[in-house]
Amino acid sequence: MATRRSASLRRLCIAVAAAAALAPALVPGLAAAAGDAGTYGLGHDLQQHSPLKQVNRATVKHLVPVWNLSLSNNYPQETQPLVIGGVMYATTTDATVALDARSGRQLWRTPVNLPQDVFAEGCCGSHNRGAAAYDGKLFRGTLDAFVVALDLKTGKELWRQQAANYKDGYSMTGAPMVAGGVLITGIAGGEYGTRGFLDGWEPATGKHLWRRYTTAAPDEPGGDTWVGDNYLRGGGATWLTGSYDPDLDLVFWGVGNGGPWNPALRNSGAQPHDNLYICSAIAIRPKTGEIAWHYQFSPNDPFDYDGTNELVLADLKVGGQMRKVILQANRNGFFYVLDRATGKPLAANPFIDRINWAKGIDLASGRPIDTELTTRIKQAPEMAQPEQIFPASFGGKNWSPMSYDPRERLAYANTLNWGYVYRTEKQEQSKGQWFIAVDFSGWVWPADGKRGFLKAIDPLTGKARWQVESDIPYMGGVLSTDGGLVFTGAQTGEFMAFDSHTGKKLWQFQTGSGIVGIPTTWELNGRQYITVASGIGGAYSLFAADPRLNNVPTGGSLWTFALIDGK
Ligand code: CA
Repeated sequence: MATRRSASLRRLCIAVAAAAALAPALVPGLAAAAGDAGTYGLGHDLQQHSPLKQVNRATVKHLVPVWNLSLSNNYPQETQPLVIGGVMYATTTDATVALDARSGRQLWRTPVNLPQDVFAEGCCGSHNRGAAAYDGKLFRGTLDAFVVALDLKTGKELWRQQAANYKDGYSMTGAPMVAGGVLITGIAGGEYGTRGFLDGWEPATGKHLWRRYTTAAPDEPGGDTWVGDNYLRGGGATWLTGSYDPDLDLVFWGVGNGGPWNPALRNSGAQPHDNLYICSAIAIRPKTGEIAWHYQFSPNDPFDYDGTNELVLADLKVGGQMRKVILQANRNGFFYVLDRATGKPLAANPFIDRINWAKGIDLASGRPIDTELTTRIKQAPEMAQPEQIFPASFGGKNWSPMSYDPRERLAYANTLNWGYVYRTEKQEQSKGQWFIAVDFSGWVWPADGKRGFLKAIDPLTGKARWQVESDIPYMGGVLSTDGGLVFTGAQTGEFMAFDSHTGKKLWQFQTGSGIVGIPTTWELNGRQYITVASGIGGAYSLFAADPRLNNVPTGGSLWTFALIDGK
């Protein structure tokens, strides 16, 4: 009897553990169910990977749309919807919506009322990337830099707090996160001569708990990496979402480019200064915002190589030893593996073919080995001649999140393959205006026309196990599953599934507008669903002037797919 009881207890524990793996206590206070997709990134590790496998290599041919819901606007849909207890929550620039996840029927829609002039201010499109849910509330940012808490059941606004003034060039586009009971939000505006920061808020009331500026003041550690008061307009925007390790009680957040891009202006003609914490990963204590460690990817960066890309948490064998690591495919073209207790780099290798700003990363010092070209640019406030820089300011990978499959130990990422024409120039700052002091007058497209590759990347070498080329680069997020599938979308509207072992395309569906959002997957009553937002826009369509997108219609909507009944 004792044996049977312990066996059933063990089975129960396994079942509970399996449920926890699906929904690891992401939304305390809510009836989070196994199969929910309760956070941005499918977990605070931001792995964008799901253990669900009903939809798999064998069954994906039976994947069909089960509903489509209009988002009633023409903004770029960069959001990742959340699914909690059978209800889906999605953000757009002008509204937050809740819908019955199974039927797609809208339950409530709460508008975001924005001042008209805010649309002229945003750097790279009017978009919103998602929300955080906690203790009965949904939290989101707004383009005019407010944090808003809504009642999950009714959509009623419970509180709102202003993080910054949008007239200074600030905006809020990333999904907030809740870590250690604290709501944490980042800020955008690194192209406007702003000073970046993270904020901590009390989820219940909106009380402001702390602010951590991401450029170091003279009396702070790292203050000597700036000249004069340049740190006050020094950039360091935090425009994406962090990851969280509850065991270490550390939140990891990527920090963006320096302001202005032209580094000689930040140095005031002096020798290059690192300008902490631009283009860095910082580890902070969620309760206080205190910085526990930092690692700077691109010291004194001239090229808009934001370090903001997602910091994915994984356990990985490095040199024969299991390590708790952070993975990042950085805009600067290198794939980093960092020790997440210390920030020490364990590997840093190119994941794209062409990089000319650095010869490599010296792991002992953690610093890039600048090429002669970069050394020269860092000391030239006004270049006489433009230079071609690889990768372009879009980076080797832009913001849209990669996934990490812990079984395959592979990261699946939409990578970019072009350079740009770059010249530093003088510019006076004007409040609320674009302030980069760089003329970037053209793109250097690859001769063979392949602007993007979906790659299966070995984190330790940066090398691709396989790659799928695309003339028009994929700019959406990636989702992988234990079904052996990798999902992503094309800017021409196709939502696609690839075999995670080979990169072979197994399925696609035309969603009616371009995809720049982040797919997610969830389970309800034994059925696996896959959801993605469709709606063209964002940095590539704004800046790349790609005529092949001219005939892609705008129009935001949500699509949800499942295996056809009986399969
Ligand atoms: Ca930037």
